[in-house]
Formats: sequence, structure tokens, C-alpha cells
Amino acid sequence: SAKATGKNTYALFTQQMNTEARRRVTLESQLRHALERDEFKLYYQPQMHLMSGIMTGAEVLIRWEHPEQGLILPHLFIPLAEETGLVSQIGEWVLFHACEQHRQWCRQGLPILRLAVNLSSRQFRDQNFLERIFTVIENTKMDPTLLELELTESMLMQDAAYANRLLCALKENHIQIAIDDFGTGYSSLSYLKRFPIHRLKVDQSFIREIPSNKDDMAITRAIVALAHSLHLQVTAEGVETRAQMAFLKSLKCEEIQGYLISRPLPADQFIAFIQQE
Ligand code: C2E
Ligand code: MG
Ligand code: MG
Ligand code: MG
Repeated sequence: SAKATGKNTYALFTQQMNTEARRRVTLESQLRHALERDEFKLYYQPQMHLMSGIMTGAEVLIRWEHPEQGLILPHLFIPLAEETGLVSQIGEWVLFHACEQHRQWCRQGLPILRLAVNLSSRQFRDQNFLERIFTVIENTKMDPTLLELELTESMLMQDAAYANRLLCALKENHIQIAIDDFGTGYSSLSYLKRFPIHRLKVDQSFIREIPSNKDDMAITRAIVALAHSLHLQVTAEGVETRAQMAFLKSLKCEEIQGYLISRPLPADQFIAFIQQE
């Protein structure tokens, strides 16, 4: 009967909800311990200068080596970390370890590379955000001119005056700013002009269907032109094919990042890749 079906549906629903809620609570408490237990690991994805073919930098991407579940990608735990506030501590851990790693590579005589570190929205809004960044730079002796912080459009637009103040302070301290996933969010072009930004990263959703999708090609062309007219550098994300690379080269897009060059790699494999290049 309908009544029975309704009851079953309800039972199933609560059961699913409980499973989901339980999974979340478990993951959340495990996330709290992941820092202490040293379960996070940094991967590095090379960024290539298109005209010269030289590797100019790397984006730092976090992974969670879960004792039972194996390698967990950030989209499965960063949103939870953001909700619980843990993302600030995690973000600081990422920055510290990335800067430490960079110093070590410099000491080992590796070619000079720029390191791009992702910031979360909550981390950016922390009261002592700037202080935390500067402290890490001081403690690790990271060369700030080689540090690039990646922010999204929404982080800038939420409170433009606040964002501008922070970006100016970062700029005064020689840190570079990139806008990540550009084109997927909402941003005011007039703010884009005013903010002290160095780079736009074209979101991979626009790159994926090049060259079959003419609209995506037009959007990519427009983003590169916009960036250049504002004297910003452009990095295209998610470049997987030679055709995509050729198109971006024809637009004079400065840099590319994607599986065509390399997947994100653990530090030792990243060094091997850079040295073989
Ligand atoms: P994102 O910053 O836009 O990073 C680029 C993502 O695209 C990475 O996913 C990278 O592995 C993936 N990718 C790179 N090249 C290709 C390609 O050719 N094809 C495809 N299909 N994908 C490619 P990942 O590592 O899973 O990270 C996802 C997102 O998680 C990042 O997007 C970033 O928003 C966030 N994230 C990663 N690490 C951190 C971190 O340390 N802190 C914060 N707050 N967020 C992070
Ligand atoms: Mg990024
Ligand atoms: Mg991105
Ligand atoms: Mg992203």
C-alpha cells in the first residue's frame, strides 16, 4: 500500500541520513587528528612557461593519507574542514611545509621555482591571517617573491574593501596573488583592475573541450585578452592535450598546468621530474 511505501521510504531516508551523518562525524573527528598524526601530504604540480618550455613553478596540492581509506582528495575534506574551522590550521600547515620544502630545494641547488599555495575562504577571513602568513615566511626564510597565493573570485568579492587591504599588504611584502578558477565565479572587472593581482588562472572547465567547443575557445580567448590588457599573467589549468596547448600558445597565454605536463607529484618524484627536464 501507499502507506507502507511511504513508511519504507521514510525508514530508508533516515537510515541514509544516519549513515551520512555518522560518516561526517567520523571524518570530522579523524580530520581533527590528521594534523597531529601527520597524515597530510603535499603534492606538487609543475607549471610550464609556454614559449620557452621551462618549468617556472608548482602548485601545492594537499592530500590526506587516511590510515584505512587511503589517499583522499581535497574536495572530500576541504569543505568539511572549512565548515568546522579546521581549515585555518590545515592551511597554515600547508604553507609552512611548502615553504620548508622550497628552502630545502633551494639548498639542494634545484632551479628556482615559484610555489603557488591555495587559500581557503575562511583562512583568508581569519583575524590574524596576515600575521600568520608573515610568521611562516619569517620562520622558514621563504623568499616571498617566489610565493604565490591562490584566491578565488568569491573570496575577493565578498568584502572587496577588506580583500583589497589584505592584498595590498601582501604585495608590500612581495608576495604574488593569483585568481584561481577564473571565469567560474562572479567578479567585477573594475575591482579586478584595482586589486594588486599578478595572475589569472583560467578554470579547467573552459579548457576541457578545446578545440571542439568553440564557445569555450571564445571565452578562453577573452579571458587571456582581458588579463593581458590589465597587465596580468595567465596560467591555463587542466591542459591535457597538445591541441589545447597549441591553442593557448597562439593566444600568448604565459603558462600552462595540467596532465599533459605532469600530474601532481609527491616531493621526491617532483624533484626527479624537474631534474630530468
Ligand atoms: P585547484 O586549486 O583549482 O587545483 C587544480 C586541480 O585540478 C587539482 O585537483 C589538480 O590535481 C587538478 N588537475 C590538474 N591538472 C589537471 C588536468 O589536466 N586534468 C584534470 N581533470 N584535473 C587536473 P585537486 O588536487 O584534487 O584539488 C582540488 C581543489 O582542492 C583545488 O583546486 C583547490 O581548490 C583545493 N585544494 C587543494 N589543495 C588545497 C590546499 O592546500 N588548501 C586549500 N584551501 N584548498 C586546496
Ligand atoms: Mg589552485
Ligand atoms: Mg583552479
Ligand atoms: Mg578550485
